[in-house]
Amino acid sequence: MVNKKISGKLKEIQQELLRRKAALEQDLIRLSNEKLSDDQVQDAGDQAFTLTMEALRASLQNTENEEYNRIIKALEAIDEGTYGICVDCGSEISEKRLKHYPNASRCIACQEQAEALG
Ligand SMILES: [Zn+2]
Repeated sequence: MVNKKISGKLKEIQQELLRRKAALEQDLIRLSNEKLSDDQVQDAGDQAFTLTMEALRASLQNTENEEYNRIIKALEAIDEGTYGICVDCGSEISEKRLKHYPNASRCIACQEQAEALG
């Protein structure tokens, strides 16, 4: 790993991303260990409830997994010195945007375009 000089602001973002990453790791471990249905016999109502909870848990797990992957990418970009550079057009992502979306990999214009294309 190349140890580039990291600016104070970037260091802050990095710390924040690391905190978020640790929290997500805890959450994902908890979610994968949590067992909603045990061996007890369930009535139809319980089963429906369990299915709903399972679906909610699965979608939460997906969301958190995606965020986790974006954080990993952002941290890699910080290490490589490419953080804050739009992956599509190569221009700098505004500080304001990074403040709100520290794991953004595109500038606003490219993000909008990517979303429009779906
Ligand atoms: Zn761009």
